[in-house]
Amino acid sequence: MRIAVLSDIHANLRALEVVLATLGEVDAVWHLGDVVGYGPDPDAVVERLRGLGAIGVCGNHDTAALGGPEIAYFNVDARRAMEWTRETIAPTTREWLTTQPERRSESDFSLVHGSPRDPTWEYVTTAPAARLGLEFVTTPYVLNGHTHLPLVFRDVDGLVETITPADGSVLRLDGRPVMANPGSVGQPRDGDPRASAMVLDTERSELRWYRVAYDIAGTQAAMRAVGLPARLIERLDHGL
Ligand code: ZN
Repeated sequence: MRIAVLSDIHANLRALEVVLATLGEVDAVWHLGDVVGYGPDPDAVVERLRGLGAIGVCGNHDTAALGGPEIAYFNVDARRAMEWTRETIAPTTREWLTTQPERRSESDFSLVHGSPRDPTWEYVTTAPAARLGLEFVTTPYVLNGHTHLPLVFRDVDGLVETITPADGSVLRLDGRPVMANPGSVGQPRDGDPRASAMVLDTERSELRWYRVAYDIAGTQAAMRAVGLPARLIERLDHGL
């Protein structure tokens, strides 16, 4: 099976469409949360994922969109965007978001937004944090998002190594514990403004990363049209 693994789409339909077209034929779509928030197209993105039969987990922005208390911890721009998201989303979007669990396991893979220890909030950016997360699950592999950074931690005989995947990078899954982050479709933060995504090939036991240019100006125009904060619009140019 070829499975698209998408995280932090953040209501960016243009980025999602180009990513899906680039990844090509897939047998399934797994998402790692933060489907909405920041971006201008929450309903269209959820509709698209629903149509694809995507399965996944909720992120902190998804639970905030449903009225959760997470919004209190957001910065001023994220909060304004979330208030707009809450007012905008259709009942069907709300319903779909409600069905997304905090964690999910699919064969050898645990899916979470932040980390297995704290699916809502923990940002896994260091090897020690990854090690604690890997100890928390019974599957060999963890797929997570939240940081918006394509990143891999692999336990090699008790030492956790850090790998920063680029476009086209391939990681072979050989049974050693791995925590892998596809990066963000809708709001990359590693200085590369292109959308980031991953494909899991279960027959070849490998993960492959993709970076995909999309119509950033189109997303920015849509954000401007609905009055989303200027700083959120600008950061898409820089991948920050
Ligand atoms: Zn996010």
